[in-house]
Amino acid sequence: MRGMRPGSLPVAGQGRQAMAVEPLIHELSKAGRRGVEFPQPDVPETPLPSSLLRDELDWPEVSEIDVIRHYTRLSQKNHAVDVNMYPLGSCTMKYNPKINEAVARYPGFAQIHPYQDPSTVQGALELMVELQEMLAEISGFDAVTLQPAAGAHGELTGVLMIRAYHELRGDTGRTKILVPDSAHGTNPATAMMAGFQVVTIPSDARGNVDLEKVRASAGPDTAGMMITNPNTLGLWDEHIREVIDVVHEAGGLVYNDGANFNAILGIARPGDLGIDIMHFNLHKTFSTPHGGGGPGSGPVGVRQDLAEFLPSPLAVRTEGADGPAFEWRQPTQGIGRLHSFHGNFGMHVRAYCYIRMHGAAGLRQVSEDAVLNANYLLANLRDRFDLAYDRTCMHEFVLSGNRQKRNGVRTLDMAKRLLDFGLHPPTTYFPLIVPEAIMIEPTETESKETLDFFIAAMRQIADEAEREPEVLTGAPHRTEYKRLDEVGANRNLNLRWSRPVEPVKEPAAAD
Ligand SMILES: *Cc1c(COP(=O)(O)O)cnc(C)c1O
Repeated sequence: MRGMRPGSLPVAGQGRQAMAVEPLIHELSKAGRRGVEFPQPDVPETPLPSSLLRDELDWPEVSEIDVIRHYTRLSQKNHAVDVNMYPLGSCTMKYNPKINEAVARYPGFAQIHPYQDPSTVQGALELMVELQEMLAEISGFDAVTLQPAAGAHGELTGVLMIRAYHELRGDTGRTKILVPDSAHGTNPATAMMAGFQVVTIPSDARGNVDLEKVRASAGPDTAGMMITNPNTLGLWDEHIREVIDVVHEAGGLVYNDGANFNAILGIARPGDLGIDIMHFNLHKTFSTPHGGGGPGSGPVGVRQDLAEFLPSPLAVRTEGADGPAFEWRQPTQGIGRLHSFHGNFGMHVRAYCYIRMHGAAGLRQVSEDAVLNANYLLANLRDRFDLAYDRTCMHEFVLSGNRQKRNGVRTLDMAKRLLDFGLHPPTTYFPLIVPEAIMIEPTETESKETLDFFIAAMRQIADEAEREPEVLTGAPHRTEYKRLDEVGANRNLNLRWSRPVEPVKEPAAAD
């Protein structure tokens, strides 16, 4: 699927005042206009408590086509992975196969209730147990919980387990968690939320965790370390085994932030490396939608001797009278409940479908293609942008906009300009250790033609930075809304919609 090319897009917004303005859905309302007729109820009517009822409800009365057009237009104002490439580094915005959606909508999955007796939902429990087993196999762990709702939630689960593990042994002097300076902000935030102090470990000149600093920091007060491998620079840590050994020798546990798992499926298993606990982002690696597309899911895997610390309840396989049966079990040292019911079950179905559709060889191919695509982009952009760490990358890489900054163009300006090409910008200003960072992750689902389009857009932007920087500092030019005042929007949150009267003003140079 190709995006709209520059030049083919209508320039919206310009001359808005002079143009006829289409009526909005509230303005289309006519008393008595109907979109649907509800059938007569087949159950007796029961009056609602009058205290809950309002006399007046200002809802538009519109036809079905008005509603369809309203929501279709709204959907077109957003970028989505179904519209064009979404190279948002670290987030793995891969295509969400539509078969996942079809399977998640099967009535046997979509219309069950968590309060049902397990004997009536054996298929759903079997799917959860099999997904746990598949994730364990792919990652090299022994037990998996599907309960956490996102990566950050998985981190909290993992770090609370680290705390419970030390507490059970009476080892109460371990108050610190080591976190590399390239880590996602959720890592230090999680450690703090779980009651630990964060010790920041710098990166070395090749973008690895500085091994000597780990040696100097790990000690009897170390509860553990949170590490991301491959890291947020898109680099495999060259000393990962030594780092893990150092933390273990100090008596700590090692947590792996698995957001970058898409780089190593079928190639390396974190459990085999000696990692103790890890989360999976089903909405990144395993193609369930995210970024406004639906709830996430952040299962957590552990080694055998930590399995009893997992949150409860845990879906397990047992022996029934006529073969395997499935039920809920409470782990003996479990940290309790982290989510209502059993996590986001619809996402478990989607991820299960994705893994079964790919099989073992297919998952390995996913990672090989993701890494190949990232290196293809890197090879075709490295002459025009500064490169933070000059190494072969994994599934993503980090450029710096330092060269363009000399012409008064910031990374933010280049990101806004990409919107004019119908492309979602990469992650910017993260990781924090790269000035003017541009973090690009194409994923395996983009074709060579789409990658070439992205390269052409980025190279045009590099040209513009040299020749006509004002094109970039004024971007975007072709989107419905121009440059928004993001800081102002944050400080003066206003969630009520109203028709914009004047074009949105350019912000003062943002920093
Ligand atoms: C996305 C991400 C997280 C957080 O995961 P969520 O599912 O968004 O909560 C943590 N670490 C890294 C490196 C990430 O990319």
